[in-house]
Amino acid sequence: MLNNPDSQDIALAIDIGGTKAAFSVINSAGELLFPVEKHFVPFDSEGKAHPDRLLEMIAPYVQRARQYGGKLNGIGLSLCGNIDAQTGMAVLVSNLHWRYLPFGQMVKEAFNLPVFAATDVRMAALGEAAWGAARGVRDFAWATVGTGYGGYLFLDGKLYDGSHGFAGNFGHTTLDEVNGYPCGCGRNGCFETFVAGPGITRAGQKAAETGESPYLKLIAAERPVSSYDVFKGEANGDPACVQIIKDVIRLISINLGGMVNILDLQLIIMGGGVTHAAPDFVSRINTRIRDFLMTEEAARDLRVINETFENSSLIGAAADVFFRQNILSF
Ligand SMILES: [Zn+2]
Repeated sequence: MLNNPDSQDIALAIDIGGTKAAFSVINSAGELLFPVEKHFVPFDSEGKAHPDRLLEMIAPYVQRARQYGGKLNGIGLSLCGNIDAQTGMAVLVSNLHWRYLPFGQMVKEAFNLPVFAATDVRMAALGEAAWGAARGVRDFAWATVGTGYGGYLFLDGKLYDGSHGFAGNFGHTTLDEVNGYPCGCGRNGCFETFVAGPGITRAGQKAAETGESPYLKLIAAERPVSSYDVFKGEANGDPACVQIIKDVIRLISINLGGMVNILDLQLIIMGGGVTHAAPDFVSRINTRIRDFLMTEEAARDLRVINETFENSSLIGAAADVFFRQNILSF
């Protein structure tokens, strides 16, 4: 396909996160035509992301995409919140302070190109299905642990959106609503509050205050303890930090293991800041999860692995264009 660039199918991929927006042009073989470029998301004084200034930011990339030989099949738009994948409506993107903003439609009207918008976790799962570790896999989950804990499901050979498009909120199943902590979703004791970055930070701060962790106590005398400090303490053999991370791995394994028992998944792909904080984090989950699997078959066949791409939602945004334009199929 690359031998004849004029005949290649391409898509402009955009990934708008809570801080930065990433851009590239990607062909239907999953190859980036230029390295990912990132810009800060423009916010107004009330903390709301500026749709018009985002359109101005997108404009030169549309022009650039049009300059390549080949067919520009559209714009794949990944956003960090609840997006209606059919209409491109940003239903709720809390990081951008958007509620019912028809951003997909705005991009479409501004550039007169097909626009395919969806939530970033859906895009990441698509990227893995198109060109990554999930290629040819019928049943898998994409899971991300960072500031939050969530993901997306791919079942029976296709994406699973759920009745309202909200499937994949792995982190908002309840672990302990009685003794648990308040969650961003408005309830108490969700798994997310224990295993995501802020939960690790909270456990670390507590271990510093009680003196249980001499390592974190020293840090806390200078500045607030972060989740990164807990991982560093773990690498240095601090017993309290070792225990905190051990618990995080146990709880994620219980959560994902339960899902495997319900859905009989063969693969779980993991991304997000927390999964990259220790080099063997995901492989430890791959081991620990086996304590929570019901069948011998799952214990034998299930794999829990790291994500394939560094910018999985961006790659997936291009994959979405090709899938929805029938250039790629599952
Ligand atoms: Zn929750």
